[in-house]
Amino acid sequence: MPTRLVNLEGRAQLLIDGRCVDVQKRSAGAHGTDPMDALQNWAAFCDWAQQQRSTPEDPVVAPERLGPPVPAPRQIFGVGLNYRDHAEEAGIAIPAEPMIFTKFPSCIAGPHTDIPLTGNRVDWEVELVVVIGRGGRGIVEERALEHVAGFTVGQDISDRRRQFGDNPPQFSLGKSSAAFGPIGPAVTTLDALEDPNDLRLTCAINGESMQDGRTSDMIFGVSQLVAYLSRYCELWPGDLIFTGTPSGVGSVRDRRRYLAAGDRIESEIEGLGRLDNRCVE
Ligand code: ZN
Repeated sequence: MPTRLVNLEGRAQLLIDGRCVDVQKRSAGAHGTDPMDALQNWAAFCDWAQQQRSTPEDPVVAPERLGPPVPAPRQIFGVGLNYRDHAEEAGIAIPAEPMIFTKFPSCIAGPHTDIPLTGNRVDWEVELVVVIGRGGRGIVEERALEHVAGFTVGQDISDRRRQFGDNPPQFSLGKSSAAFGPIGPAVTTLDALEDPNDLRLTCAINGESMQDGRTSDMIFGVSQLVAYLSRYCELWPGDLIFTGTPSGVGSVRDRRRYLAAGDRIESEIEGLGRLDNRCVE
């Protein structure tokens, strides 16, 4: 049975049949309340989680009460221009190697957190986010998925003015303001997915479809990214990789469009769930 780890008001929970099973209580303290602890010992955690079932006493999940399932990653990697159609719409050549930047961990937010806008050029990017389970260096591509705890949905919110305002550009700062990294709703193990390499991902603003792509269109796939990053950086449990966005972001549309206060951003990936964030002043 797949494991779905969520964060209910700061406590780790298993999401089973739409109910939240409290990890610490159900395990009588064998597993802690912090979702990061589960990721630290992911294989053992999943062995235990697979044996759990929900009961009528477990509360039905209230999505707006969920926090980020990975609240405190030590490292967050972002990948720029990782979809051919997005590189084309941005007018930039297809990169020969993954183009890596960071989102600083203080930008992480929950699947329903409000996003304070930092100006009038803030943009959306729905992305598949990889959650690292077992860390390491020099991970080979063939075994990379063994190091992946699961996937979650992410929004790589980007202030284009900050991102491109300097030369060379400031990707990391432009993408790291408060709540610029909503993730969730769950860390879902790959056995929940029919084909983990081909998932539909969509983003709608106020109900209007803006992005509609498939992760099979990534230039560098998940295994390649894990192997590439681990050549340079040690990967640690709970690290996140924002794997890039398909076409349809606001800054390169025929009629440019940016986020405004009151806008609702719905981001969804097949089999993983959805984020529902609102923009505020
Ligand atoms: Zn991005």
